[in-house]
Order: sequence, then structure tokens, then C-alpha cells
Amino acid sequence: MMKTPLEILHKYWGFTSFREFQEEIIQSILVSNDTVALLPTGGGKSICYQVPGLILAGCAVVISPLIALMQDQVLRLKELGIEAMAYHSGLHYLEKESILNQLLHNKLKFLYLSPESLRNRKIQAHLQRASISMLAIDEAHCISQWGYDFRPAYLLIHELRSLLNVPVLALTATATKEVLEDIQRELKLNKPVIFRQSFKRSNIQFVVEEQESKPIRLLQILSKLKSSNLVYTRNRKNTIQLSQYLNTNQINAAFYHAGMEAQERAEVLSKWLKSNNETVVCTNAFGMGIDKPNVKAVIHVDIPPSIEEYYQEAGRAGRNGEKSYAILFHNVRDTNAMQSQLVENFPSIQDVKLLYKNLGIYLEWAVGHSSEEMKDFDLAAFCTTFKVNAMTIIYGLKILEQSELIELTDSFQSSSKIQLTSNQSILDDYSLMSLKIQTMLDFLRRKYENIYITPVAIEEYDIAKYCNISITEAISMLHYFKNEGILKYIVPITQSQLRFIGERLRSDELTLDIDWYNKRKQSHIKKLEGMLQYIAEKECRQKNILNYFGEKTSELCGKCDLCLANNKENHIETRTIEILELLRKNNTMTIHQIYEYFPYNQREIIVGIVNDLLSEQKISRNIDQLKVN
Ligand SMILES: [Zn+2]
Repeated sequence: MMKTPLEILHKYWGFTSFREFQEEIIQSILVSNDTVALLPTGGGKSICYQVPGLILAGCAVVISPLIALMQDQVLRLKELGIEAMAYHSGLHYLEKESILNQLLHNKLKFLYLSPESLRNRKIQAHLQRASISMLAIDEAHCISQWGYDFRPAYLLIHELRSLLNVPVLALTATATKEVLEDIQRELKLNKPVIFRQSFKRSNIQFVVEEQESKPIRLLQILSKLKSSNLVYTRNRKNTIQLSQYLNTNQINAAFYHAGMEAQERAEVLSKWLKSNNETVVCTNAFGMGIDKPNVKAVIHVDIPPSIEEYYQEAGRAGRNGEKSYAILFHNVRDTNAMQSQLVENFPSIQDVKLLYKNLGIYLEWAVGHSSEEMKDFDLAAFCTTFKVNAMTIIYGLKILEQSELIELTDSFQSSSKIQLTSNQSILDDYSLMSLKIQTMLDFLRRKYENIYITPVAIEEYDIAKYCNISITEAISMLHYFKNEGILKYIVPITQSQLRFIGERLRSDELTLDIDWYNKRKQSHIKKLEGMLQYIAEKECRQKNILNYFGEKTSELCGKCDLCLANNKENHIETRTIEILELLRKNNTMTIHQIYEYFPYNQREIIVGIVNDLLSEQKISRNIDQLKVN
């Protein structure tokens, strides 16, 4: 008998109940409705397609924008004993063949696909022949040109959609009205049922502060919290300087940006994930797909370019439901710089043509040459080589993608590779050492035909499963063999890949999509305006954000800086306690030193409190030095 969604949830994930809307979304798919699910990050999106995918006959196809996330999902499913694979253009030709074979032979329950792979006619043909149960589109807002994450290849999904007669589930953690309309139109959804969970984060206190001395204020906040935090800045150099400043002041801090070696980045991330008192100072390269429950504060020392980006980053605070903080610093210089950068960073048509030419030089791809082969592309190195701004390049690449001139994969981990470098008799000697070693060496020799001739892509997971050991143990055994010199073990690196679609043209032959270019630029300006309105908001920060995402509410959160400030008495009481604390800690301070600890616009309030404290003789003044009595 067919299992119910709840039975499946319990059997594989061990939960005894669904979270809000999960069950409704699953039921909607089970009765073949096209469905849209708007769930905030951390709202349990994957369960919404994994449960029906397990109930329905055939393989569920999941389109996902990030290869790293696909790999992570596939691994988790495999650990639950569910057959799942990820297909993307970074795979070797033989790996792709093997996946398609498994699909046709009904061996898979889940197939994760990068949107770019839909350009490949072969995969479309295979999907049409295979038994497919449903189509899930993760991060569906990537299909919208209004979305900050627009991925031109997402527009290919509607072709696939028309080939398969299956229900579609579009999932997203962010959707304004325009984006929601785009999702429905571009995916050609048929009378979709829409589920919208509120984007409200009641346990986060939103605060915006005008700050002239950001490092001092940052230090003060972090000293109080003693917890795991994130500090976002727009500038790589700043990640290093701020983390050094924090470390010299007894705050445990690391830095993270996209220009670091993959290995280094992985170490920072894994250390932070395990810690409960470390702060990472990072650029927006940090965070995609990270789900750490105990983040106390997310502090932005620079203004992000859109509410979408801000809310996604700020929303990493307090996933455990405990009280947490999302704080944004700004000053007049920032807002001015932001507006001029917007103009500077958005590439001109000439910039885009030059970028196309430079890509040819960088990848050593001659005019007139054409190839299906993807080449490794390192954005940071490219920017250094050609002395260009990363943001300009990112926009430029999107314009080239949209004009179908290039194909770019996001960064992902390629598979590990192994080649046996010893002969049969030496391997036999090692096999005598233990049954575990024997099992592993036998498996490698039998499973991978060419392993003596060339490095072949392997999955540590498969090896561990076959040998009945943990993945960690499998990896450490492989390192042991490598050190013994009996095999080459090449550990994966994180990398993006790029190719020209069709033959490489001369840059004066390029035809760019100008309408699209103009629309993009407008949308970009509109987003920045949204962010500036958030900063200038007078009533309630949370309400401002919810309204931005199309949630009609007039309810005030009661805990953001504005709600507190509008509730004056309460606010003055808190500030009074904070000022007394500061004076006790520092012994004596001038009024200007006190100012540095508070938002600029509160100087008047601070003076008022200090005068009250003086007249109540709780503090005293000697020339300009204030002191607690
Ligand atoms: Zn509020």
C-alpha cells in the first residue's frame, strides 16, 4: 500500500509532524497541481519535493542553480539510502552517460539538473523517454529578470516543461509581486496553487545605525554578545583589516572572501560552523546554502545593493528561534558612494564587448574557434589579470549569457580522482595487510576500468558504502595509500567553468540584447532605491521589508530600533542603563567618546540623558570628563 506523506517523513527524516504548509504543498503536488511555494530560507523547502518524489512512481527532476547545493542534497539523500544523482556541465562525458543510463533504467528517484544542462538536446530527449514523476524548480526566482539572482538559463525550463506532462513545483525564499508573476508566466504554470508563508522573522531585532566610527561600535556590540556572528562588508581588504582589529581586541574573528584559496575558505567555514563564539568578517561570497542555527548577530558595515540580498544575509541570524540581531551601519559617505558605484559598476556596451574579447584571450580561445568543452574560469584571477572591477564583470557575464554568447557554470566541487600507480603484485601485498584494505583495493580495481591508465573520477561515498566504513575513514585510507605511493589521489577543488556558445566572434560582430540590457539597469537602480528606503524608514523596519516583498501588513514588530525609539520612555531607560555601564567600565569619558557608541541621530537624546544624570547627581563632571558617582 502507498505510504502517506507523514509516514514517509517519519521513515526517512524521523520527524513526527510537518512544518507550516509543507503538507499542503505536498498534497497539492500529489493531486497533480502546478504549485508555487514561497517559503523563507530555513523553512524546509527540500522536504516539499522530496516527500512527493518518494511517493510518486518514477524519477523527480529538480532544477537547482548551485552545483555545490546539488551535491550536498544528493549526498544527504544517498545517506538516507535514496538513489539520487546530480547532472551538470562540469561532469566528465562518461559520468554524464552513466547518469542518463541509470535514469532510463529507472534506477533514480531524484535527478538534480543545472539549468544550463537543459541546452543539451540529448538530456531533453532522455528525460522525455524516462519515467518522470514531477518537476521541482528550486530558487525559482532565478527565472525572473527582476530578481537579483537572474539566471538566463532558467528560461530554458519552460521547454522542458512542455516536453513532460508532470506537475511542477516552484520554490523560492524571496518573491516580490513582479517576481511571482514572472515565475508563473515563464514556467507556463497552469492555474497554480500558491502557498505563501510569512517572511516575518519575529525573533530578529532589526537595527539601522548611522555610524562614523564603525569598527569601535562593532567591537562594542560583539564584546557584549560573545557568540557566533557574521559581519558583512563589500570589500575584500576590509574583511582582513576588520578581523585583525577584532582579534587584537580579544574578539575571536576570521575573514572570508572569494579571492582566497578554496581550501582556506573551506577551513574557515567548517571551523565557524562548529564554533559558538567565532565571528566571520566576510563578503557576500559567504553564506549560500549555509544553515547554522546559533548565529546571534549579522552586522552589515556596508550597505548591500538590494533588500533581497540584505534580508537573505540578515536572515542567517537566529535560525534556532532565539533572540538575535540584524544590524546595518551606514553614513552619508556610504549612500553617496553607493549611488556613484552603481553607475560605475554597471558595464557599458563597450565594456561588455571588451569583456567578451578578454575572455577569449584568458581562455586562449581564437576567433572562429568553436568547442563544446568547458574551461576552468577563476573570476578573482580574471579581475586581477585585466584590472577590472568584479561587479562589472559579473553583470557583463550575465549580459553575455543572456545574449547566448557564453555559458557559465557557478562554482562547484569537481569529483575526486584516483589513478593506481603500482602493479598488481604490490597491490596484492597490501591486500594481505587487512580485510578492509583488500576490500577497498578490490573495489577500486573492479569498479573503475581505466584506473591503471588515467586518473578516474570516484565518489568517496560509494567506496565507503561498499567497504561498510564511514566516509571519513575512506578518505583517510585513500590518503594513506597516496602517502605509500601506490596511488594518486587528487582531491577536488572549487571552480567555475565557462565556454563560448557557437564559435568565438570578433567583438565588433557581437549582437547584444539591448532591451534586456536597459531593463536590467533599471531594475538594478530600483533595488538600490528599495534599500535606501529601508534605511530612511520611519515607522518599523520589519514592516518595511514585508511590504517590499508584497506582504500587506500594518503590524509593527515592536522590537526594531524604530519601534523602540518611537516608544520614547522605554528607549531612554535602555540608553540610560547603557551609558552608566559605559562610564563604569571606562572610569571616565568625554561626551564625544560616549557619542561614538551610539547612532549619530541620537546625539540629542544622549545629551539629554547625560544632563539628567548630572542633575540627579548620579554622575559628575570634571572639566570635560564624566564619571559615575
Ligand atoms: Zn519594528
